[in-house]
Amino acid sequence: MLKKIGITLISILSLGFSASAQKPCATDTKYWEMVKKYPGILDLEKQFEDQIGSNIEKTAAGAAARTTAISASDTTIFDIPMVVHIVHDYSVENLSDDVIYEAAQYWATVYMCQNTDTSGVINPFKKWVGNPRMRLHLATIDPNGKPTKGVVRHMSYLTTVADDGAKFDPWPQNKYVNIWVIRTFGASATGAAAYAYLPGMAAYQPYYDGVIVLYDYANYAKTVPHEIGHVLNLQHPWGNTNNPAVACGDDHVDDTPPTKGHNPVGCVASALYDTACATGYLKHYRTASGGDSLVDYPDTANSQNIMDYTYCQEMFTKGQCFRMRTALTSTTAGRNNLITAANLSATGALAPMPDLPPVADYIMNRGTGGSFVSDDRSYFLTLNNSNSFLFRNTSWNDTLSDVQWTFSNGASTPSVSSLTTVINRFTVPGYVTVTEVAISNAGSDTLVNTQAVYVADTAGVSPWGYVQNFDPANCGNWPMFNYYRNNFKWDFYSGASADGDGKCMRYRSFDTTDKTVGTALGDHDDLFTPGFNLAGITGNYYLNFYTSGCRIPGSGTTDSMEIDASTNGGAQWTRIGGASGTSLINNTYSSLEFVPTSASQWVAHAINIPTAYRTANTFFRFRYWPGDIGNNCYLDNFYTYQFPAEVLAPTAAAGSLKLSPNPATNGCNILFKTGYDGSATIMVKDITGRVVYQLHNSYAPDAIAEETIDRSVTPVAGIYLVTVIINGKASTEKLVVY
Ligand SMILES: [Zn+2]
Repeated sequence: MLKKIGITLISILSLGFSASAQKPCATDTKYWEMVKKYPGILDLEKQFEDQIGSNIEKTAAGAAARTTAISASDTTIFDIPMVVHIVHDYSVENLSDDVIYEAAQYWATVYMCQNTDTSGVINPFKKWVGNPRMRLHLATIDPNGKPTKGVVRHMSYLTTVADDGAKFDPWPQNKYVNIWVIRTFGASATGAAAYAYLPGMAAYQPYYDGVIVLYDYANYAKTVPHEIGHVLNLQHPWGNTNNPAVACGDDHVDDTPPTKGHNPVGCVASALYDTACATGYLKHYRTASGGDSLVDYPDTANSQNIMDYTYCQEMFTKGQCFRMRTALTSTTAGRNNLITAANLSATGALAPMPDLPPVADYIMNRGTGGSFVSDDRSYFLTLNNSNSFLFRNTSWNDTLSDVQWTFSNGASTPSVSSLTTVINRFTVPGYVTVTEVAISNAGSDTLVNTQAVYVADTAGVSPWGYVQNFDPANCGNWPMFNYYRNNFKWDFYSGASADGDGKCMRYRSFDTTDKTVGTALGDHDDLFTPGFNLAGITGNYYLNFYTSGCRIPGSGTTDSMEIDASTNGGAQWTRIGGASGTSLINNTYSSLEFVPTSASQWVAHAINIPTAYRTANTFFRFRYWPGDIGNNCYLDNFYTYQFPAEVLAPTAAAGSLKLSPNPATNGCNILFKTGYDGSATIMVKDITGRVVYQLHNSYAPDAIAEETIDRSVTPVAGIYLVTVIINGKASTEKLVVY
């Protein structure tokens, strides 16, 4: 991978550079977001500048000394522990350990000024090339005192919508520099390659301190060294108040001349010899003897600076190194603790990387029609399905010598162990347990997943009279998956119900972690029904259920639920209905965790099952997509019936009446529940009270009956009143005809 990147870069250079491939840094955007929230950052930065100024006074005896003394008089080498977190969803961003080790080695090279491309620095800046004199090390001891190789992994959907919320499990930021690797940024950093927090910002938000970078920039150009520059208080050479190539700006570093900065143009002459803001750039200093002295800095921008966006990044200046070293000896954001002997010992920064056992891990893909899809982290499929599963080994932390797999549910156990992939299928219904043992010279690790796959029974359940009230004792064939093993998930709930039994399903969309581990947007979780035998059912036939949803205070509820059907045992799913907005979030907001307490807080849903999905074994799936300001949503009283739930729940009283559709233009159906003798009178009146239609008829007692009102009965558009009289009791509904 590294070699490939190197080759790509060379070929881009030889073609005269394609600017579009290179992305900028979002540190300034994040900086101004933070300043808006915490104006005190500006005071901290002022203190920083004063400290830097007084340090310069102390160290630089005179102007002449400035070119050499700042670096020459301070020869201490600082050691800094780091940890790299790979936030991944088993895709391209799940970089191998070796790629990270190699990247970390390169970052360290830059911070000792050993990157060979400094030889390409143009003459005016040769004498200003600075050496940060910092050794970056992957930690060998974690915050719990356990040995580590300095690379850890977190599975999350947030890798594709990453921002501060994707910064999982930060190690104490005054002990380690945290670096998170992700796949793509979310809205707040769209288009960026990476960003980092300066010490002044980190002092206010230590939880998010560190570098976050796209996986394909982890070792591309000097993206991470640039970001570590920010961690150590460097700004972009044009300052932090505008985008590059807009207006002349300054970064509070004397030997980086004023510049507008550059977009990614590469090492082109127009950037290398850009004099737009730097012509005649001089600085006056007071000498030790009280006199005045002058330093004539280069009259061209330092476009090869690692903090510019040129992507011709070759050097830090001496002034930048001074500034970084000041940050590293400052208490702001606890940076000075990173380099203490006690911390280096506690983090094992100076120890060689230990040999540790592997961490067992795998990802499974589901076959669909000869190919494999990777759309989820657990899978549902019927037994003996023609599709199969592919288990791909993704163990890490050491070079493996062997991988051993064991599968339950009648699957074949591989006769030879496989380091890479195993394909399997299952013949016994229920949850499948998959056991993977990863083995290396240093030991082994065993991963047991008791819910890797759910194998569904192929015998379709009769839908007639089927009611599911979500008593866990009766839900053995209703599997659910919490794909990302987090708090957003389906679970059985006891303490609320639509049907009075006190039991129901709950979708936990209330963020019990108070946003410390990111937004729920992007997650999803599934609840599956058993297969139903719907073959031969004609006419209206509904999937009925009730929900009760809520949000927390705020606007822009984005929770949604989709209902999908599968006629091939879970190999493919098609959406047949859904709910969102107020049809799902039907209650007002609550800042506490929501629990419905009355029947009126539930809303009925009915999906007329499309004919194409009326097979001998049709499965349904409730897929919940939590949003950003979600609260809990409850599901109850699932049943299949000829009539829609909103009118005629099994518990409806005699005389219950429903008009459908309403408003209507081509006639309307009247659905009603009959009484003990089955007789009913139907009347339709116009708005003046004139009876335009009357019918007296007998129906099955205590049953749902249906009558049709043709459009000819209500020829004029407007409002009509439809009344059904059963056992002397009248129920009336308004019908709108258009
Ligand atoms: Zn930057």
